[in-house]
Amino acid sequence: MFDEKYKFTCAERFLRYVKYDTQSDEESKSFPSTEKQKILSADLEKELKEIGLKDAQMDGWGYVMATLPSNTNKDVPVISFIAHVDTSPSVTGKDVTPVINKNYQGGDIKLKNGGWVIKERENPDLLNMKGYDIITTDGSTLLGADNKAGVAEIIDAVNYLITHPEIKHGDIKVCFTPDEEVGRGTEKIDLKKLGAEYGYTVDGSSRGEIEFETFSADAVVIKFYGKNIHPGYAKGQMINSIKIASAFIESLPKDKLSPETTEGREGYIHCNAFNGNEELTTLKFIIRDFDTQKLKEYESMLKQSAEDAIKKFPGSRLEFDVIEQYRNMKEILDKHPKVIDYAVEALNRLGIKPKMHPIRGGTDGSRLCFMGLPTPNIFAGEHSFHSQLEWVAVQDMEMAVKFIVEISKVWEEKS
Ligand SMILES: [Zn+2]
Repeated sequence: MFDEKYKFTCAERFLRYVKYDTQSDEESKSFPSTEKQKILSADLEKELKEIGLKDAQMDGWGYVMATLPSNTNKDVPVISFIAHVDTSPSVTGKDVTPVINKNYQGGDIKLKNGGWVIKERENPDLLNMKGYDIITTDGSTLLGADNKAGVAEIIDAVNYLITHPEIKHGDIKVCFTPDEEVGRGTEKIDLKKLGAEYGYTVDGSSRGEIEFETFSADAVVIKFYGKNIHPGYAKGQMINSIKIASAFIESLPKDKLSPETTEGREGYIHCNAFNGNEELTTLKFIIRDFDTQKLKEYESMLKQSAEDAIKKFPGSRLEFDVIEQYRNMKEILDKHPKVIDYAVEALNRLGIKPKMHPIRGGTDGSRLCFMGLPTPNIFAGEHSFHSQLEWVAVQDMEMAVKFIVEISKVWEEKS
């Protein structure tokens, strides 16, 4: 049983971490994409040492790793809890002023600045939050609950285990990463150094969530080459690549296969950049489906349509490139059923109904799975992330702490 007298530290930690501006940058070529992320990471190394994790260390890339050593004679697989320190490039994370709405009594929450309102109608989880303390922004920034809530919860859970040595557990590895929001969170990760057999990213939303199915994802870049001539003398000679690209876009399906026309398990083809001049127009696409095979189908459909488009413009040509992004983690996790089973067992013990649905996106876990570390994603209590409307309930954060503790116990007991 959880020690109900335990004084949680996750909320206090969280409120401190959101004060660090750790926004990552999509345009940056360096690693981490912004140096300021390392300011928080260096302080997390200190905090981990302070609570007793002697080997806590931030490496040169900004990854923080630490070990809570096993206290059992059993041979327990090493598990890792992982969270990211960066916040989304979409909304500023500078000068975050969190607001605590104590003892929430239902209804919409109006933010101080910018006319933002967190609407109950758009946030069905708010219906289960009566009496909870809800942390929001003041409307001028994002909050950074994604994923500083996860960081705070992991440290609090480790602190609980340290202050309750009667609870048996195997080696537990803590890992904080940079640059998740720009899709580079695993780029420089040293999995040998981490030395874990299984992982959990603590970066999910609602209480009870366990996510183990993500999209498979590719990117496609298509370049249409035309021929430029002074427009005054272009008759019969100019081939305008913008027109080729437009004809191609026009030929794609309109009522299906795009983000705005699909949901649930349906995949899509999405054009997210169109840049060009007469000579060269470059189109970028992201391709998504839960079934990896389908990506190939979508890509050959795109290629066929692009080839049909240049046939209408004699003298033009095209380049077509597919870049693999990430794969559905379920392909790996199906081979390691314990990772999910033990998390479900932990939720059952806490009396929480597991919520398991496929994510229409990816996580660092998707990449970690294929790098050899089976890693589903578990709830951290984050809501409406990447926006001024972000919020998290203190009581959800505390439940996430209990969940991490319970998962650690289940692994020990079942070993
Ligand atoms: Zn996140």
